[in-house]
Amino acid sequence: MQIYSIIPNFNINNRYNVPKQSSSFKSYNQNIRLLNVQHVDTVNFGNKTKLKQPIIIALFGPPNGGKSTLAKLLSEYLGIVEITTGNIFRAEIKKGTPLGLEMKSYMNKGELIPDKLCDEILWQRFTQDDCKNGFILDGYPRTVKHAKKINRYLKNHKGTKFKVINLNAEKQLLFKRVNERYICRDCLKATSVKDYNPAVNKCSCGGELVKRPDDTPEVFSKRLEVYEKETSPLIDFYRQNGDGVLSEIKLSLPDREPQETFWEAKECLKEFIHEQNDK
Ligand SMILES: [Zn+2]
Repeated sequence: MQIYSIIPNFNINNRYNVPKQSSSFKSYNQNIRLLNVQHVDTVNFGNKTKLKQPIIIALFGPPNGGKSTLAKLLSEYLGIVEITTGNIFRAEIKKGTPLGLEMKSYMNKGELIPDKLCDEILWQRFTQDDCKNGFILDGYPRTVKHAKKINRYLKNHKGTKFKVINLNAEKQLLFKRVNERYICRDCLKATSVKDYNPAVNKCSCGGELVKRPDDTPEVFSKRLEVYEKETSPLIDFYRQNGDGVLSEIKLSLPDREPQETFWEAKECLKEFIHEQNDK
């Protein structure tokens, strides 16, 4: 499970050494279909974007649904920060702030970090300067209580808009992605391989591709179950009380490129953005 946290951070300005859209990209792509972040290379955002007002976007989606890739693309496109709860907590602990130390003490005892503490750290993060035009949430809200807290915040910040985008993925697709995912033993980059052959399929860095120990259908089923149990009350909440804040993007087989999900998400957000034509 922990491998996630050490996969190098994606930075759209610091692109991976993958050939750009070109004939070499195509042939390269036929052998190794790269998953998620690597494909992001080929996204051309087109026109410049300006937000009409600050916006908070909450992304929901199952593990393997492509949520973090979408968060990164939207962040780049809209020019607002992406707040991933796990990263915030790790950063807080690393910085050794009083809240971070409190968090660490729970972890050292092997106890779950109380919801109240997590909440406090996150809401402190939302007040920082880089959040003033809005932000993209990955991993929050997790409960109806959190959702209500966001609603209270919006009541006090009338100019801020709110949108929930739910990536609604077919299970078959998610399992296919798990089956086809390999990681590089050297650089830990995830790569999608259809018919794995160790002699042919290598990472773009030349490293050996291996299966992640938790990428089994059994482990994945469990993760999915936990996700569904946690998220369905929230989706219901937004369906009933959201006043149109909820948009759903359906992901099904055949599997598609992350940028297609991005274009759809962009459609869901179009009422909030001005596009400026490059002349
Ligand atoms: Zn590698």
